[in-house]
Amino acid sequence: MSHTYDPYTNVIDTMTKAMEIGHIDQSMFEILKNPQRETKVYLPVEMDDGSVKVFEGYRVQHSNIRGPFKGGIRYHQDCNLNEVKALATWMTLKCAVADIPYGGAKGGIKVDPHTLSKRELRSLTRRYTFAIAPIIGSDTDIPSPDVNTNPQTMAWVLDTYSQLKGHPCPGVVTGKPVELAGSRGRNFATGRGVVISTKLLLAREGKQLAGTTAAIQGMGNVGANAARVFYHRGVKVVAISDISGGLFCEDGLDIDTISVFLEKENALLKDYDAPGIRHISNEEVLTCPCDVLVPAAMENQITEQNADQLRCSYIVEAANGPTTEEADAILEKRGITLIPDIFANSGGVIVSYFEWVQNIQELTWDRDQVNKMLEKLMSRSFQSILDVTEECHCSFRMAAYIVALRKLVYTEQIKGIFP
Ligand code: GLU
Repeated sequence: MSHTYDPYTNVIDTMTKAMEIGHIDQSMFEILKNPQRETKVYLPVEMDDGSVKVFEGYRVQHSNIRGPFKGGIRYHQDCNLNEVKALATWMTLKCAVADIPYGGAKGGIKVDPHTLSKRELRSLTRRYTFAIAPIIGSDTDIPSPDVNTNPQTMAWVLDTYSQLKGHPCPGVVTGKPVELAGSRGRNFATGRGVVISTKLLLAREGKQLAGTTAAIQGMGNVGANAARVFYHRGVKVVAISDISGGLFCEDGLDIDTISVFLEKENALLKDYDAPGIRHISNEEVLTCPCDVLVPAAMENQITEQNADQLRCSYIVEAANGPTTEEADAILEKRGITLIPDIFANSGGVIVSYFEWVQNIQELTWDRDQVNKMLEKLMSRSFQSILDVTEECHCSFRMAAYIVALRKLVYTEQIKGIFP
């Protein structure tokens, strides 16, 4: 039976459970169940063949009670308003867990960017930026990269917004190229944060990264960089996948060589070959034997259909929302420990925060400083999550939600309701 999972229902249900388990005052919860603003825009683009296409775009601003709205922009053919609403809510929770002074937002365009030329993508990005310009800004809402967007996309957003304002506005987006007021370490940050999360989890169990085996679903910015950092820390990456399929090698894949291969335009894993490698399906990457499974692709990958077949001890959620509610319950019963997305992939937005701070202060920090501060912030928030797992006898997901919701509800209460 096919099942359509709704990520927005998933996040609201999980928040509702966390409110109960964390004994959090319910009076302000209604506010957090709804975004503050949903914007839908229609974006005409003149295509290379002279025809005109209109694309649908979104920006959902979930909450700014702890600071400006913050969150990425994704380009995907399945993108829709409900998905973006869920992603915006996760950003609010993520920034609260990380304890950085931001709220949450997310944007997206319903488009398969692989079907567009570079010029078409630039026009689409500029038109989208123009359409949302009235509601973004360095102290109102700060976009960044997400699925299928990158520093180049952010450079176009920055330039379009700055042209409209008549002066450079570096703080309006993060994840920019380093040459254009971006931060050193930002491009690697989400992947690096996934490795830091894994290290913290293993350390708690008296284990270390070196010698551990990992399987990674997704070779976008997050999956590919997590794979590289894992590999250089001595983790045996036994399986990886992209949209074309997966690779498996019991002795560990040579991630450096594969990374060089993937840098070529239109490179797909199905076309990669080396001795000892077996080609497997995307589904098999999730169910292959490994210590740590890292879903780094899209939502709803681990479901009640495959949760029983996973052969890992730990899951570290590099993607947003990769596990359905039903699967979560099965994993808990099976004793598979899961580090939730709102902590595990927070490295990206944490270094976005560092980038924004550097922009505002007109400073540049070196990579070591950025990486050290990232590790410090993540260690601190991991400790706050651990404390709640002990206090409330709950899973890491519940604890992370409780940490976030306590801060959000408290902030709502001391501010009170306007007017
Ligand atoms: N898109 C990333 C996320 O989902 C990064 C957000 C940001 O840097 O604002 O966390």
